[in-house]
Amino acid sequence: MKPLCKLSKSQLAQNLARLASQVPQCQFICKKCARVSVHKKELCKPVPIRKLVAEGPAE
Ligand SMILES: [Zn+2]
Repeated sequence: MKPLCKLSKSQLAQNLARLASQVPQCQFICKKCARVSVHKKELCKPVPIRKLVAEGPAE
């Protein structure tokens, strides 16, 4: 597993649901840079973690 910072956009997409499930206290994860926050406005491409985990890994 490469550092998250080194993942390509597609690799990031594949790992996003798993990453999101590891940070249940945060409510949003950024689809673009994988940063997490409880505040939607602190991320550039926020996705609700609950939604992401429910949907599972991206194709
Ligand atoms: Zn971002």
